[in-house]
Amino acid sequence: SGDFLDQIKFRGGKLVREQEHVHAINGVSLDVIQGEALCVVGESGCGKSTVARTVMGLLKPSAGEVSYRGERIDNLDDKALLPYRKKMQMIFQNPYASLNPRMTIMETLREPVQFHNPSLSAVELRDKIHEVMHSVGVDPSWGERYPHEFSGGQRQRISIARALAVDPEFIVADEPISALDVSIQAQVLNLMMDAQESRNLTYLFITHDLAVVEHFGTRVAVMYLGTLCELASTKNLFAEPRHPYTRALLSAIPRLEDDRPDFIRLQGEVPTPVNLPSGCVFHGRCPHANERCKQEIPALIPLADGSQVACHGVEEGRI
Ligand code: SF4
Ligand code: MG
Repeated sequence: SGDFLDQIKFRGGKLVREQEHVHAINGVSLDVIQGEALCVVGESGCGKSTVARTVMGLLKPSAGEVSYRGERIDNLDDKALLPYRKKMQMIFQNPYASLNPRMTIMETLREPVQFHNPSLSAVELRDKIHEVMHSVGVDPSWGERYPHEFSGGQRQRISIARALAVDPEFIVADEPISALDVSIQAQVLNLMMDAQESRNLTYLFITHDLAVVEHFGTRVAVMYLGTLCELASTKNLFAEPRHPYTRALLSAIPRLEDDRPDFIRLQGEVPTPVNLPSGCVFHGRCPHANERCKQEIPALIPLADGSQVACHGVEEGRI
């Protein structure tokens, strides 16, 4: 059982070093609502993985806080975090790196279950593991085999089984299907949706893929350069994207009915996070930018339909 904790610590150590190169996320505030799939979307480097890792306690925020059902958890030590390690599980992008190559599938699944349920008998333990294997399409007869014997899709199913095996409430998934063959992405996504339904899960789902968001998300948070641009229900976001960056992202999805007016094509490069632009971080690429945008950081403002948008142009009614 010690190995399970070591694994978590290892990731933390690795990511703290990584943090030196990653610009902090600025003023991003998210409430995840029970039972939803909140998708965080944005291009590579926008800070969405940083949000995921901070929520999971793998990165310590230098400012701000993380709380879970009203309890602040970012400042807890390992021992105090233990109950949350059971309730909160993470699924990583790379199913090749996230499974220990020296452990059989059975050992991989047994370890966290045993650790969090020390009173289970051997038979109860086995039954519980077989049940979760069945639920994600992992054949229990694979139990004595090693990760290298499986395809990427099968490994990600095993990773999902490991997350589900401890009966979590909340799952943070960081690009869980983007490393997989396109042909099996939908299967794994559907499996995650089925698990949400049958286990009453809440997801924080990190992705760069808007097709995934449209299929899966209850709400969407759009990030750009470490800031939150727009937060809306999936329905509202796709029907009426407000922030110019959201419109640009949606414009990049090829569609049959490409007759959308005032959609935006992105110009220019994403600036480096080391030297953030002043004012609205999107102003260098935004066709609606004006002097105010170059100087003043837009605040997230609530709109009548419940969406929130950080854009001077939307606030001024000129977009
Ligand atoms: Fe564009 Fe200004 Fe809105 Fe930023 S605040 S997205 S620059 S209009
Ligand atoms: Mg990432």
